[in-house]
Amino acid sequence: MDLFEYQARDLFAKHDVPVLAGEVIDTPEAARAATERLGGKSVVKAQVKVGGRGKAGGVKLAATPDEAVARATDILGMDIKGHTVHKVMIAETAPEIVEEYYVSYLLDRTNRTFLAMASVQGGVEIEVVAEENPEALAKVPVNANEGVSIEKAREIVAQAKFPADVAEQVAEILVTLWDTFVKEDALLVEVNPLAKVADGRVIALDGKVSLDENAEFRQPEHEALVDHDSANPLEAAAKAKNLNYVKLDGEVGIIGNGAGLVMSTLDVVAYAGENHGGVKPANFLDIGGGASAAVMANGLEIILGDPDVKSVFVNVFGGITACDEVANGIVQALQLLADKGEEVTKPLVVRLDGNNAELGRKILSDANHPLVQRVDTMDGAADKAAELAAAK
Ligand code: GDP
Ligand code: MN
Repeated sequence: MDLFEYQARDLFAKHDVPVLAGEVIDTPEAARAATERLGGKSVVKAQVKVGGRGKAGGVKLAATPDEAVARATDILGMDIKGHTVHKVMIAETAPEIVEEYYVSYLLDRTNRTFLAMASVQGGVEIEVVAEENPEALAKVPVNANEGVSIEKAREIVAQAKFPADVAEQVAEILVTLWDTFVKEDALLVEVNPLAKVADGRVIALDGKVSLDENAEFRQPEHEALVDHDSANPLEAAAKAKNLNYVKLDGEVGIIGNGAGLVMSTLDVVAYAGENHGGVKPANFLDIGGGASAAVMANGLEIILGDPDVKSVFVNVFGGITACDEVANGIVQALQLLADKGEEVTKPLVVRLDGNNAELGRKILSDANHPLVQRVDTMDGAADKAAELAAAK
């Protein structure tokens, strides 16, 4: 889960990373009181989960409370790289910025370790530095068991060639930032710019944090950081039902058991769709190996509730849960939905294979549901589902 800048700022403050005061607002008029609280001037910063806000006009200085209201008016509702600005942070203005640095920690999956990255060429997008001037970006592996002590932090600082006058301050910040990374179960913490300001202080002026959702169970406070407003409503509904669902932008609803099978189903449907006007998968949904009728009903309910969906492809490979149980699940799920008054009106193509496939197919044939078609090969079923979606 990616956080907004103001949320990252709050987490930094909690772990003693030096930041400036700031509060988040969602109406222009609120910028006045917030700016007054900061002594009459502020920086108005768009809160969107995408970089490059500064360049896009989403970061503006305000010299008076009136100006803050004007800037907030400009920025609220603005579109930044496809993200609409619903909130702005009113932040304390930094003393004059003298230098802009970059520091981050992230999970380096390729090398199975954590990685510290640091550069004295911050402010700009770090991808650009990495591309054009790779020697200016220090990359230092961090051993998970050892973490970042002040000695380790000094090593990172030395490799990135921070100037002597800020070296110790940056090292101390790197220790507090590591604390944030570990204690919050983050996958990424990034500060850009980490700014040296006129009075000699080094301050985190912009932060990006991505939290590990797998650690939710031990981070109860993170629930409050979830952005319910901008979550896709279908994804939110699926999450509430504990389903592994991702909304995509096509027309063929997909249900399968097992992430690998569902991924290949997406490919096969996209491929088949090329022969039917370019229809594509509408979602990823893995109902897992041991899916009951209730889980199948939940999955179908989500998918059939997606107005983009024109047909549904249920692709199941019977394993521990055999095909007859899955077939019964589908039949019961359709009944459950009908009982709830959600009569199914979209065609379903079902492909069953694997354990007890014959029995499962017989159950579907016997049920003889007018909207359910059986196709016994994956390619054939994908083609049928794409054809039905295109015909709608
Ligand atoms: P980004 O463009 O989305 O990365 O947004 P940032 O928060 O990094 O802001 C972009 C730039 O605005 C920074 O690199 C700074 O140069 C500048 N900036 C941010 N906060 C302040 C501030 O408090 N005072 C001043 N003068 N400039 C700021
Ligand atoms: Mn930035």
